[in-house]
Amino acid sequence: MIKKRGLLLVVSGPSGTGKGTICKKMVEMNDAIKLSVSATTRQPRLGEKEGISYYFKTREEFEKMVENGEFLEHAMIYDNYYGTPKQAIVDQLDAGVDVILEIEMQGARQIREVCPDAVFVFILPPSLDELKHRIVGRGTETKEQIEKRFNSAYNEIKLLGDYDYFIFNNIVDKSAEEIFEIIKSEKSRVARYKKDIFDMFEREKEKC
Ligand code: ADP
Ligand code: 5GP
Repeated sequence: MIKKRGLLLVVSGPSGTGKGTICKKMVEMNDAIKLSVSATTRQPRLGEKEGISYYFKTREEFEKMVENGEFLEHAMIYDNYYGTPKQAIVDQLDAGVDVILEIEMQGARQIREVCPDAVFVFILPPSLDELKHRIVGRGTETKEQIEKRFNSAYNEIKLLGDYDYFIFNNIVDKSAEEIFEIIKSEKSRVARYKKDIFDMFEREKEKC
């Protein structure tokens, strides 16, 4: 048999569409899949934990990490830096673990450049009305931040073309299952494993 390398899955979509909720559900449903923990300069929200929700950094610390090449990608979003620490991802993928990056679109574009094997999934809200309802209902942002995030949503949806798959997030469990199906299909893609399969049979042929 061939040893499959882990799959890097990028999940994006407008703020409040349910990305975080879906990714959390996926990790609960399957402990073989890991969610990357990003670094950010944003303030922790109530209940968020260091090293679990994010690695919370000062601007100086974050900029130092950028200088040291510690990020796979990073971006400035709503006046704060966010970035994906590189080393943990490389180690997990090498160990055959599938990793989810829940990141926004500027970061996803950078990942497309550095990891062309990654799979890109865009989460859509059932409607803009429902999206606003979810952002407000989450209760984690000020009125001004809610307006900022909601106003960006329409423009963000226009970036759908950069992605491989879309999911309308109506029901969280169903959305999570749909992403597992995508992972399963991607792991049977000929282009991804052709060389490993040929090498395997080549080795077997020599033994026969
Ligand atoms: P994002 O990570 O995309 O910003 P969240 O996961 O924080 O969004 O979800 C925003 C809000 O919407 C949360 O209060 C969450 O509980 C709720 N939510 C997420 N998915 C659904 C869904 N399918 N149906 C109803 N509410 C949802
Ligand atoms: P929040 O402040 O709501 O936790 O996240 C704001 C936005 O930042 C979300 O769209 C989220 O997907 C994105 N984000 C979180 N971590 C990263 C990261 O490491 N890189 C990039 N580019 N975006 C991120």
